[in-house]
Amino acid sequence: MSKRDYYEVLSVGRESSEREIKKAYKRLAMKFHPDRNPDDKTAEAKFKEIKEAYEILTDSDKKAAYDQFGHAGVDPNRGGGGFGGNADFGDVFGDVFGDIFGGGRRGGQRQAARGSDLRYNLELSLEEAVKGLTKELRIPKLTTCDSCDGSGAKKGTSPTTCGTCHGQGQVQMRQGFFAVQQACPTCHGRGKIIKDPCNKCHGEGRVEKSKTLSVKIPAGVDNGDRIRLSGEGEAGEYGAPPGDLYVQVSVREHSIFVRDGNNLYCEVPISFGKATLGGGIEVPTLDGKVNLKIPAETQTGRMFRMRGKGVKSVRSHAVGDLLCKVVMETPVKLNERQKDLLREFDETLSDASKKHSPKAEGFFDGVKKFFQDLNT
Ligand SMILES: [Zn+2]
Ligand SMILES: [Zn+2]
Repeated sequence: MSKRDYYEVLSVGRESSEREIKKAYKRLAMKFHPDRNPDDKTAEAKFKEIKEAYEILTDSDKKAAYDQFGHAGVDPNRGGGGFGGNADFGDVFGDVFGDIFGGGRRGGQRQAARGSDLRYNLELSLEEAVKGLTKELRIPKLTTCDSCDGSGAKKGTSPTTCGTCHGQGQVQMRQGFFAVQQACPTCHGRGKIIKDPCNKCHGEGRVEKSKTLSVKIPAGVDNGDRIRLSGEGEAGEYGAPPGDLYVQVSVREHSIFVRDGNNLYCEVPISFGKATLGGGIEVPTLDGKVNLKIPAETQTGRMFRMRGKGVKSVRSHAVGDLLCKVVMETPVKLNERQKDLLREFDETLSDASKKHSPKAEGFFDGVKKFFQDLNT
C-alpha cells in the first residue's frame, strides 16, 4: 500500500512551522477522532494516518529523515530504518488533546476533592411535622483535623509535590492505540506526598467525629421533604470545602389522621341514633377536639369538611382542611330490653320500608331486575 505524503495528509506546506503542523493536526484529529466517528472504519484509518504524519513531522530527527528519504526514511514497517519503530501515538494524543479538552494534564496541581454530602433520615410524628420544631441531631462524620488544619502533615511541616506525577495525581499509561489516565501509584492520586504525617489524623487531614447540630424543622414539612444544611457535610480532602448535609424527613403513621398534601383526613364513628336524629359530635383535630353538627338523616360514609383545620403549607402558607368521614356503627352487646325496643322499632318500619330506607329502595329494585334478566 502506497502511503500519502505526510504534508499532504495534514494539508500543510513543506516550509510549515511546527506550530502550523500542530494546528493542522488538531483540526483534522478533532474531525476524525474515533470518539466522534464511532464504527466508522474510514475515519479511523484517516485518524491513524493523520497521527502518523503528525508524529513524524513534529520530531526534528524523523522529519529530517522523511524530508531526505521520504517514507523509506521513517517507515516503521521497514524496521531497519531505526526511526519510529514504535511510534508513540498515545503520547501525541495526550499531549495535544490534553489542552484541547482542558483535560487537566497540563493544568497544574490537582484539586483536592470537596467533601461528600451526607444524608440524615429524620423521622417525625405528624404533630411535629405539622407544628415544626427544633431538633438536636448527632451526626457522626469526617471533620477537618484541627491539629494540621486538614493538610495531613505534622505540625510545622507541609506536604510536598509528588515527583512521579508532578502534582497532577494522574499518570498516562499506554493501552493499545490510546493513552489512558490513571491514578498516580506513588501518591494514589493526591498529587502530594506527606513525609511526616500528622499524629492525630495519620495524614488523612480528616478525623471521624460526632457533631451535634441544632436543626430548625419548619412547620408543615411532609414525608420526603429535604432540608439542606450548607457546609455541614463531610470535610473536604486536605482542607477542600465541605459537602452539605441533607435532612430527609419521613413522617410516622398517625393513629387517627391521614395526611394528603395540606388536608387531613379522619374517620369518626357515630351511633345509629345520632345519625338518624342529628346532633353534635366531637371531632379530633391537631389542636384538640371541636364540635361538629351532624344533620338528621345522615347516611354512613358522608364526608364533612372543616375548613382551615388541616395543615399550614410549609411553602405557601395556605391552610388545608380537615375531612371527616362519619361511619355509622352497628350497636353490639345489647341487652334484652334494648333488643326488644329495636325489634319493636324495626316492625314499625316494615309496613312501608321503602319510605324510610332510601338506599334499600333502589337496591331491591335492582336485585329484582337482575333476577328477571337472568330468567329471560
Ligand atoms: Zn491532622
Ligand atoms: Zn503522584
